[in-house]
Amino acid sequence: MINGENLVPAPIRWGMVGGGRGSQIGYIHRSAALRDGVFTLVAGAFDLDAERGRAFGTGIGVAAERCYADYQAMFAAEAQRPDGLQAVSIATPNGTHFAICKAALEAGLHVVCEKPLCFTTAEAEELRELAEAKRRVVGVTYGYAGHQLIEQAREMIAAGELGEIRIVQMQFAHGFHNEAVEAANPATKWRVDPKMAGPSYVLGDIGTHPLYLSEVMLPQLKIRRLMCSRQSFVKSRAPLEDNAFTLMEYDSGAVGCVWSCAVNAGSMHGQKIRVIGSKASLEWWDERPNQMSFEVQGKPLQVLERGMGYLHPHALADDRIGGGHPEGLFEAWSNLYVRYARAMVASDRGDTAALAALHYPGIDAGVEGVRWVEHCVRSADAGAVWVDYA
Ligand code: NAD
Repeated sequence: MINGENLVPAPIRWGMVGGGRGSQIGYIHRSAALRDGVFTLVAGAFDLDAERGRAFGTGIGVAAERCYADYQAMFAAEAQRPDGLQAVSIATPNGTHFAICKAALEAGLHVVCEKPLCFTTAEAEELRELAEAKRRVVGVTYGYAGHQLIEQAREMIAAGELGEIRIVQMQFAHGFHNEAVEAANPATKWRVDPKMAGPSYVLGDIGTHPLYLSEVMLPQLKIRRLMCSRQSFVKSRAPLEDNAFTLMEYDSGAVGCVWSCAVNAGSMHGQKIRVIGSKASLEWWDERPNQMSFEVQGKPLQVLERGMGYLHPHALADDRIGGGHPEGLFEAWSNLYVRYARAMVASDRGDTAALAALHYPGIDAGVEGVRWVEHCVRSADAGAVWVDYA
């Protein structure tokens, strides 16, 4: 149970690039990082517009001289201070992640980076090598993985409660972009521009979320090959897709599919993962994150509830309140930020045992997300053909 007691020896001095006024994702980063006292916000380059960024930064309590015009100025100035930044979160559009993440690592900072980490596997591998060389932590915000019932699924699958795993069915299929809403919405506009979004829209923007959940629940599962078909139902989005189906075969003989979609009219979020074994199935839906279905063949449906004593201890460790009271996305993100902070502290101490005991979406998850999108795009653009996963 997390109850406000210190989780790290001292809050990590932390800053943000992006996430400023009007941004979609900035507030949840700050809420997650600050909730449990593991980080303290001391600096930021919050906005493309320097003046607006400074006004925003001072408005949330950052000293005016530590609200910078851009990330280069921030990293340079903070490096000169005895109380300078130790970690930074990057909450800017996709096309900027690689350069900012690289600069942060070169400046010796730990990083929390938005997904997708970058555009190509080669770039992602370069960031991984740099992070390893600098012994810095890179967290990637696959935020849904912080929901406690994801840990429960991982433990039940590892214990064999589902039997042999046969099928993994995943989707993130919302309806918010069923029309060309980008004409009036800047945060959607860059998402359908290949220069800022990268080689895909929905595959990288949302499909990688349930994909990462499958990596947490089924760490042994390795993709052998995949096939992807992608469409732009709103024609102006081409070549980027607003719908995609990806079929995967795993080394174990299991199969999986991911439906990534922003034109699922009427659907709010529609992120689900169903893991089907030879004896039973588990299903989790992000719109009801405090419940998970457990269906044993031939028996009545069981609904497992967050916070209940029958869950595995790992699924209870991050609770802030008992079962019945709903926890949500903000708590899930906070859980990840606590793990990032613990990893940063362990890394600074050179404590490899502590680092190995922690699991969180880190640089490997970032690389894997980029690699998956790259393979999906290659398959789709070749006419939805099977491509080996290397
Ligand atoms: P947004 O367009 O709403 O906001 C982007 C913010 O970054 C703005 O404040 C903008 O001024 C600022 N910015 C842009 N370039 C900058 C730069 N070079 N330096 C400083 N600030 C800069 O975008 P958003 O929807 O918040 O998305 C940001 C990132 O977060 C994207 O990579 C997106 O994929 C990701 N995201 C992740 C999740 C998740 O669940 N993990 C959810 C939504 C968005």
